[in-house]
Parts: sequence; structure tokens; C-alpha cells
Amino acid sequence: MNWHQQPKEKLEHILQVTAGTGLDHGQAKARLKQVGPNTLEEKKKVPGWLLFLNQFQDTMILILLGATAISAALGEYIDAITIIFIVIMNGILGFIQENKAEKSLDALKELASPTITVRRNGQWKTIPSMEAVPGDIVKLTGGDKVSADIRLLEANGLTAEESALTGESFPVQKTADVLNEDDISIGEKQNMVFAGTLITKGYATGVIVATGMKTEMGKIAHLLSSSEKNETPLQRRLAHLGTMLITGALILTGLVVVLGIMQGQPMYKMFLSGVSLAVAAIPEGLPAIVTVVLALGVQRMIKRNAIVRQLPAVETLGCASVICSDKTGTLTQNKMKVTALWDGSGLSLRKPKKSFQKTKNEKLLTYGALCTQITVDSTHSQTAANSDMKGDPTENALLEAAASCGIELNMLLSNHKVERDFPFDSERKRMSVLVKNKKGESFIITKGAPDILLERASHIDTNGRIERLSTYKKNEVKQTIGYMANKALRTIAVAYRPLKAGETINSADAAERNLIFLGVEGMIDPPRQEAKDAIMECRQAGIKTIMITGDHKDTAAAIARDIGLLPEYGLVITGKEWNQATDKEKQKLMQRAYVFARVSPEDKLNIVNVLKKQGHIVAMTGDGVNDAPALKSADIGIAMGKTGTDVAKEASALILRDDNFSTIRSAIKEGRNIYENIRKFIRYMLASNVGEILVMLFAVMLGMPLPLVAIQILWINLITDGLPAMALGLDQPENNVMKRPPRSAKESIFARGMGWKIISRGFLIGCVTLLGFMTALHEQPNDLIRAQTIAFSTLVMAQLIHVFDCRTNQTIFDRNPFENKYLTAAVLSSIFLLLLVIYTPMLQPIFHTTPLSAMEWALVLALASIPTFALAGKTLFRQTNVRKAKAS
Ligand code: ATP
Repeated sequence: MNWHQQPKEKLEHILQVTAGTGLDHGQAKARLKQVGPNTLEEKKKVPGWLLFLNQFQDTMILILLGATAISAALGEYIDAITIIFIVIMNGILGFIQENKAEKSLDALKELASPTITVRRNGQWKTIPSMEAVPGDIVKLTGGDKVSADIRLLEANGLTAEESALTGESFPVQKTADVLNEDDISIGEKQNMVFAGTLITKGYATGVIVATGMKTEMGKIAHLLSSSEKNETPLQRRLAHLGTMLITGALILTGLVVVLGIMQGQPMYKMFLSGVSLAVAAIPEGLPAIVTVVLALGVQRMIKRNAIVRQLPAVETLGCASVICSDKTGTLTQNKMKVTALWDGSGLSLRKPKKSFQKTKNEKLLTYGALCTQITVDSTHSQTAANSDMKGDPTENALLEAAASCGIELNMLLSNHKVERDFPFDSERKRMSVLVKNKKGESFIITKGAPDILLERASHIDTNGRIERLSTYKKNEVKQTIGYMANKALRTIAVAYRPLKAGETINSADAAERNLIFLGVEGMIDPPRQEAKDAIMECRQAGIKTIMITGDHKDTAAAIARDIGLLPEYGLVITGKEWNQATDKEKQKLMQRAYVFARVSPEDKLNIVNVLKKQGHIVAMTGDGVNDAPALKSADIGIAMGKTGTDVAKEASALILRDDNFSTIRSAIKEGRNIYENIRKFIRYMLASNVGEILVMLFAVMLGMPLPLVAIQILWINLITDGLPAMALGLDQPENNVMKRPPRSAKESIFARGMGWKIISRGFLIGCVTLLGFMTALHEQPNDLIRAQTIAFSTLVMAQLIHVFDCRTNQTIFDRNPFENKYLTAAVLSSIFLLLLVIYTPMLQPIFHTTPLSAMEWALVLALASIPTFALAGKTLFRQTNVRKAKAS
């Protein structure tokens, strides 16, 4: 269908809808049922059974199964069945982990799902884009992401960025006019916008002509990089590490097998033990646990209102060294109320719960209320403004101030018609409307940052008397702005200009000149109390907070001081000052910069780049279309969930559901903790594996019998690697996570002494296990099963004690070991599984075990404690010595 050639009436006819009222709920429901949800079909999901089977794809597991088949052929049925049982249990565990990871990631996708504003039963309603259907009448404004193919019915200064479809990144102008050309490309269909593209500016209404896979985007969806992997740098590094670990483990186990055979051990037994050892020593669960820990961490972040859009951000968050934050709504409450008015005749202050004097301030309040997006939208929507209409808090405050004096919006709208508008943008810092009153007089009203409006005004209106704006008067206005700003008030000036007969206005620039200055409205926007604590905590964590705002220098400084962001020596820099500085000066200024005021989105990008050049990892907030480049360029772009545009969200790695600064702090804390938890279980798993390999290697080197049989090795792998490692990944943060500086992004996973800890603990675990085995053999040389049971128990217990040590970078005594309930439960279940195979008479022959006496348990526990407690003792001893040395 050539939608672009159809006139409005034809479109309404084909799509069975009336533009003025939209679809009714019943129609929409029926169409949704007929055409399906407005989503792009995703790559076919891996079914559960396949995910389960995938667990056995691992080469080592396949070799093990091969070895098991050989043992079955040799008549060792019980061995074979047990190995298969353990392998299946391992597979189930892996399946649960991967399934959980996938489910959590899916849940994240749903959270970030977009919305669309449609007209249903005559009312504008915001619904999930998924529910939009062909025939829906929709409203689009600058910053929206288009979620269906739409033929425009009305367009006002609309531009769209269609690079996702056409590759052209420069925004194109759109119109609602019918196009006659027959066969034209997507890029030429100027009266249509397409799913997946972005509205950069303007306002439009239109009718949906295609949804889901029927859209132009849907048609090429299969060409898109649907296989795009959301992997973090750490996951990539771990994949690399995995290959090294596998090689290392294979070489060592190969050595064990060769030495064993040379010592005269039976070949078949050595082969089975070797393969089991390789299966145990290769941390095959590592990638899945990393994903689960990341995904669960991300879910915890959601509970704290931070939505992660890109998984790598979780890691980068932990490295953040600077947060560049917006002021309004993020550091302040965005609950604005006009408390001061100034017009030519002087200042009026509003007492709490009182209104201003209508007679004195009527014109300022009226014009302030008329020049708002709500009046514009009410005009466009051809319905009277209704209380559901949500405006920007700044504008709501202006409307409320007017309404409190009886100047109601509906009354204003019945007496005036907004004929054109030039919407607010943070570059111009002002907006204008062209209004016609009942007498037929047309005039421009502009409102915006007072310093900027002053530059565009030539006259001033004092109680209806219009005079030239003298330098004296200008200074009076500036003093007033300064007075209000120092009281942390946000200031908005209002100005106007009657249009001459026949004058046409083609651009914002033409509208906003030779203005008559009317006055200034000052509004409070109380700081968020929680921001104060968050800024302090970030400072302790070595993270600098910088405020970047479009607001006035003094207002910004007053609020920054109030929330403890601006230290005595800190600088407040305006966008103008920043742009005048040379690159070298900028580097220097940045050292002491804490507040950037009256900046434009372009300056934001420059600030990010200077910070990055200084080696910072930058988190940057933003909400508008123009913020997108800065958000993309920052290491962690953070969009506002409530006030942010789709464009800003699209460019970000993180979305703050509550727009609150303290949420960033929580996300950083969580990011740091997730990374530490990953380090914790890697440390635990690798030290355990080193211990397992070494005990076998030492034994064959010393010409001793094998301390563990194949099934014991596999059982150890099952009960110590699975649940305890997962539980470590869910550990609570240490008290000092936010008391140490951010880690370097280039830091190795083994940094800060972890490599040494893995090797030393692993070595000791191997040694004590061997010692237990040798002691038992020395006492009763003929009872190999007893010695093996002691070795088996010592190895398991040493790992289960060591797991508590892994919770901290200090010693086991520095944290309450039982604080992590999951870990305690996992360890108890592992102990139970150990006792089960030692004390169940039926299982004893299968696992080659025998019950141990109390004395033997005392030996096992004493030996198993050594790796953890001996080294903790050593650290404590050293700390005491350092303390003593400091004291003396
Ligand atoms: P932040 O960037 O921290 O959110 P901000 O909201 O003050 O701060 P902008 O939204 O860019 O930054 O606003 C800059 C200035 O523009 C404000 O100080 C105000 O004077 C003016 N302004 C803000 N909103 C409007 C509006 N809706 N209409 C006209 N002028 C506005």
C-alpha cells in the first residue's frame, strides 16, 4: 500500500478510524488479537530441553562419559551408574544456573519496554508500544522513539533521525502533505515516520499503518545483528582465562596420569581418575555463575530503581571516578513552586499557603501561564486542557501561581488561541508562542532564562507603561535575578511583543527579538535530602560529583552548597567561561570544577571528553535529545526514567526510574559489589581446584597410592563447586566497598593479592589433604579406604572452611562468617552430602568410604582449618606488629 499517496480521508477510510476520536477500546483489542503485538520477533529461543542437553556438550564431560562407558564394558556397573548420576546432577545445576540467568535477562528487557501515546475513545493515553495497532492515532514529540510505521496527519517542525533504516544520520524534515510520486524510497517518504527511528524535534500526530514485523524495520529485522552479544569485558577476559585454565588443568592431570602409570597404578583406573580430575579442575560453571551473578545484581539494582540497559555498565559502574549530574530533579526534588515575582514595579514575595496579589501581577502571571507546553498541547489536541495533562514541573509551577490568583488555564484558553509555538530547548533556554486573543490581536510571548531574555529585550513594561530598557533598568533586573538566585530560586523571565499587521513569523529567532520585558518569576525547588548523604558517600569512595546544569550560576551554586557538593575551594564555571578557556586551561580548571552552570548539551560533551582525557571513568546523566552525544560518549550514560526522552534512554547504559541522584550511588555500590563477588567465587573455585590437583600430583610424585578415587573427585566437584560458589556470588557488600577508591578499569581480575591467595590457599589445601591421607596410612597401612575417606573429608572440609575466608579481602575474623544465609545453607547442604556418602551403608561401597570416629573427625577438622586459619593468623600477627610499630 502506498500510504504516502493517500489523503487523510482515504487513510481514515482504509484504516477504519476517525482521527478526532481514534479507535475505541473494543476495536483496538480486536485488532491486537488479529495482528499480534507490536514487537519484532526475536531469534528463536533455545528450548529448555536443549539448554539441558547443552550442559553435556563440554569436551571433558564427553570424554568422561566415554570413560564411563569403558568402565561399564569392564563390568564396573556401579561406578558407571554413579558417574552418570553425578554428571546429570551437575547438568541440572548448570541448567538451573543458565535458565535463571536467561530469565533474569528477559525480565530486564521487558522493563525497558517503550510506550506510545495514542488516542483511544477520544482521549490521549500512554500505553506500552507492544499494544499499538494499525489505525491507532498517535502523538509524537521531540525525543520520542517511533515504535510503528506512521503516516503523519499533522506535523509541526517535525524532524526525524532515520539512520537505523536509511543510514543517514542527519535528521530529515517531515510534513503531513500528500506525496504524489509513485515508487519512492523510505528516505523520500517525507510524510511518514518509521519504527526504530527517532524524533529529534517538533510535534506531530499521525496514524499507524503497520506494526511489528510488518513495519519496514520488521522486514529487515533478520538482517540486524540479533546475535549481538551483551557480554561484559570481564566475561570476555574470563573466556580467555578459561582457555588458559583448561590447558593448565589438562597438563597437570596428564602429568598425574603418566606418573601414576609409571608408579605401577592400573592404566584404566588412572585414566578414569585423570578424566575425573580434569572435569573437577576445569571451572566449567564459571561463565554461568558470572552471568547469574551479573543478572541477579542487575535485578537488585532494579529494586533500587536503576535499570541497566547494557550489561557491561554493571562492571564499569564499579570503576566510576566522576559523576556528572544534572541538577533539576536529580539533585533537587523537581517540586517547584513560584515564591517570588518581580515586575517593573518591584518584588512580591509569596507567603506559605498564600497566593500573590492578582491585581498587581496579573499580566506577568497570565503571560507566564499562556507560554507553556500545556497550552500548546491543549490547542493541538483540540480538547480543553484536562487535569490529566502532565507538564514540566517548571511550567506547572507557573500555571499554579496563576491559578492561585484565579487565572485558570481553561479560561485563558477560551480567550486566547495559540497559533504557533517554538518549543523550549536547552540550547536556546527559552520558548515562545504566537497567541491571538479574542480581539484578534496577535502577539509573541517568550519565556526563558532571564539573562538570555534580557539580551533579546529592547523595552520593559512597567504596569502597562512601556519604556526603553535602559542600562539602569537592566541592572535592576540583574540585581533581582542575583537576589533570587542567591536564595536558590530558579528564575524564569517573561517577555512579549505585539505583532504588526501582516507580520509573519518564520523562525524562533525572528519571533524572539525586540521583546518587551515583563518580569521574572522565581521558584523554589528544594534539594533532595538523600542526595546530600549520597554525595558524601561518593566522596568517601573517591568519586567526585560534578553538577552540570542549564540553570543560573548563582542558583546552581546555592543549591550545590546546600547539598555539600561544592567545597570552599571548588569552582563554579559557566558554559561561556568554559568555552573561552584553552584546552590547557580546561585541564587545569577541571581539577577544581564542581559546578558547571548555563551550559548547553554541546558543552556537556566537551566536559566528558576533558574528564576522559584526564583518565576518569565518567558517569553522566541526561534527559534531552541533545544530551544523547554526551551520554554515548560517557563511560556510563545515565538517562532519567521519568523526565528523560526515548532518545536519551536509547543512548544510555543505565536508566534511573526515579531520576534520583542517590540511585546512582546505589548502582555504583552494587556495581562494585558485583565485581567483588565475582572475584570471591573465582578465588574460591580456583583455590579449590588447585588443591584437588595438587593432592593427586603430590601423591603420585611420592609414589603413594591415589588419595582419592574418581567418584570421590566428581562428588567433591559437585558439592563444593556448585552451590557454595553461587552463594558467594550473592554475598553482601563488605563495609568498606564505598570507603575505597574506584578500581582501575584495566585492573586484572587477580589484582590486589588475589593470585597469591589462590595459589597459597590451594597449595595448603592440597598439603593438608595429603597429610591427612599419610597420617591415616601411617597408622593403618592396610586400610586404604579409611585413609581415602580421611583425605576426601579433609579436602571437602578445607574447601568449605575456605569459602568463608573468600568473603573478605582481609581475614576470616573481619566479618561474621554466617551473615550470608545462602552460603551457610549451601555449606550445610554440602556437609550433609559428604556425611551422606560416608555414613549410608548402601553408598559406602560406591563411594569407597568408611565411617570415621570422633578422633578421626578431630584430625580432619584440625587439618582442614589450617589453610584458612594459619594464614589469617599470619596476617593478624603482621597487623599487630604494624600497629605496635605505629604506636611506638
Ligand atoms: P538541569 O540541566 O540540571 O536539569 P535545568 O533544568 O535548569 O537544569 P534547562 O532545562 O536546560 O536546565 O534550563 C535552563 C534554563 O532555561 C533554566 O534555568 C530556566 O531559566 C529556563 N527554562 C527551563 N525550563 C523552561 C521552560 N519550560 N520554558 C522556558 N524556559 C525554561
